Amino acid sequence: MRFVPDGALARPVSGKTSNLAQMTMAAAVADALVSNAVLAVEAGTGVGKTWAYLAPLLMTGQRAWISTGTQALQEQLFLRDIPAVSQALGLPIRAALLKGRSNYVCLHRLEKARAGELNTGANDPAWSSALGRIQRWASQSMVGDLSELPGLDDNSPLRPWISSTRENCLRETCPSHSVCRVYRARQIAQEADWVVINHHLFLASQLNRDEALPALLPHAQTVIFDEAHRLVELGETQLGLSIGSEQLLELARELKSLGPLMARGLQPWAHLALVLEQATRMVSRLLPSHAGVKVQTNWAGGTPKGVQSLSWKRVRLEVLHALDSAAAALQAVAGAAAPLEAMMIRAVQWRNDWVLLLRDLPNDAARDELTVRWVDRWPDGTWRVIQSAADAAQAFQAAMHSAGPVQSWVFTSATLGIDDQLSWFVGGLGLQAHPALRTLRIASPFDHAAQASLYVPDDMPEPADEQHSIALAASVAGWAAVLGGRTLVLTTSLRACTRIATALRELFANEAVHSLQVLAQGDGSKRSLLALFRAAEQSGPGAILVASASFWEGVDLPGDMLQLLVIDKLPFPSPGDPLAQARALRARAQGLDAFQEGYVQKAALALKQGAGRLIRSATDRGVLVIADRRLLTQSYGGPLLQALPPMTRLMNETDMQNALVRLASSR
Ligand code: SF4
Repeated sequence: MRFVPDGALARPVSGKTSNLAQMTMAAAVADALVSNAVLAVEAGTGVGKTWAYLAPLLMTGQRAWISTGTQALQEQLFLRDIPAVSQALGLPIRAALLKGRSNYVCLHRLEKARAGELNTGANDPAWSSALGRIQRWASQSMVGDLSELPGLDDNSPLRPWISSTRENCLRETCPSHSVCRVYRARQIAQEADWVVINHHLFLASQLNRDEALPALLPHAQTVIFDEAHRLVELGETQLGLSIGSEQLLELARELKSLGPLMARGLQPWAHLALVLEQATRMVSRLLPSHAGVKVQTNWAGGTPKGVQSLSWKRVRLEVLHALDSAAAALQAVAGAAAPLEAMMIRAVQWRNDWVLLLRDLPNDAARDELTVRWVDRWPDGTWRVIQSAADAAQAFQAAMHSAGPVQSWVFTSATLGIDDQLSWFVGGLGLQAHPALRTLRIASPFDHAAQASLYVPDDMPEPADEQHSIALAASVAGWAAVLGGRTLVLTTSLRACTRIATALRELFANEAVHSLQVLAQGDGSKRSLLALFRAAEQSGPGAILVASASFWEGVDLPGDMLQLLVIDKLPFPSPGDPLAQARALRARAQGLDAFQEGYVQKAALALKQGAGRLIRSATDRGVLVIADRRLLTQSYGGPLLQALPPMTRLMNETDMQNALVRLASSR
């Protein structure tokens, strides 16, 4: 199979053309598909990796699962890329989109909720009007994908009542089974040549064997993972052990609703539910919290850090007693109906998980386990206790094995490692165990040396200095004023994000420099902030967007909309980051350098990911500033700089000013 410069894929589609890098990747994918290989391919920005794996897959005619890290890419593949490649090559394909069951409306539960049989509060006029609106939408939507339901966000309290879980679904005994949207989506997937899934679904399949993908989907000859870098962390958390408030509250809801429905008067259902609800909320109240952000807390011995030990022990027992009582009550009536038996199995399982997860662990220095444990608490009070997989690589290998007799595997992303062996990624998933493993790095086709400059100021305060954010804000205000905005500041913490945004607003309010709009994470959703940024660049005064976390990837501002990208500090995981700790523990056990494996590699990958926001097309021009002197003074600075594409170095503030003036005048 050859990809030639004047072939079908060379024709511009959606404004994009193929390039040598894309053809190199397509050839490698084609070769992997026909020789049953495992291919990990890192494709830099602009390679066009989606087409580079879809085209050869289509030409080999293999049945495939294509898995993405996000639902956004899942939908983009299904709705845009697959039809476009199919049309360009003139080869039809039956593709289907499949998400986890909680993404689809459950007609049965919706009907029960509307009838007031689930104790949802259907008597509340606002609640019943919302359920009525959902009912009208559901009756017209053959797909039933809740992401298409206007006005329903991911955290809506309505969701548990209008969607199903593996445990509460009645399956073949359900009166709505013949029109069920979950089973309809699975049926369509069964008949497809390609099924577009997501990593969560793939990994969950490993744990939920009764809903494992091989049972749901047609046999796949090939599995392709896009955004594959996300598999490493997802595997460490999802293939470990966890229990959270959503599960416990779901059980409480069902005790309250299904208990009286199927075994009225036999157990004190309302009381059992109330006790479990109260214990769950007590955990939430004890955990450290912070307005607007998720707080991750590690363990110190048997207690999450910052939590009073005696209070924690008491609450831990409250949850255990609530689960014990629920399990005992359900055991007594389990024979009466299948849903009660399913609830009983779940209550016993979660009770055992709770005991295992909450057991006392020796402190770091004394322990020999390779797992780490932490608890996440979200601003809305939900929480989850997680224990990483002791060997995430082994767990992922088991997941690959359980996918059935797949012939070839392709893993791709813009960021898979910092060496040619892609060792961070390959080691993280245990892929080195495959004799047919191939790794490939394809650099971005963009001419970064000509298109981008890199400036590492040597006069910034040390990153740990309180004044660092203030000094950086002053510099950013001056730089952005030259460009009239067009500036994105990526920070490594929400605290720094707030400090820099506040300092910038004060500077512009005092009119010390040309006034620009300052947008900051927390002012709105990611989508709305990016829309405001674009609007300000097109018709407003110009803007500076200051953001952290999710803005380090998935932000695409091509052209001269973004000309200055500032990274405040090297993105090392915090010393308490549980996943970095887990990786460091495993590295130490293997005799490797724990700091290098747990922290430096992670920082290099995050830096690459963040820096990739600047140059998005062959005509983009811009400056990247990394305001962290450690790049110049520490031994790890060299390897971190090498992880970035080659850019022209700006050596001092004069160089920087000249570069900005050139950028401003080139528009
Ligand atoms: S089969 Fe399950 S998911 Fe489908 S409508 Fe019935 S309970 Fe809901």
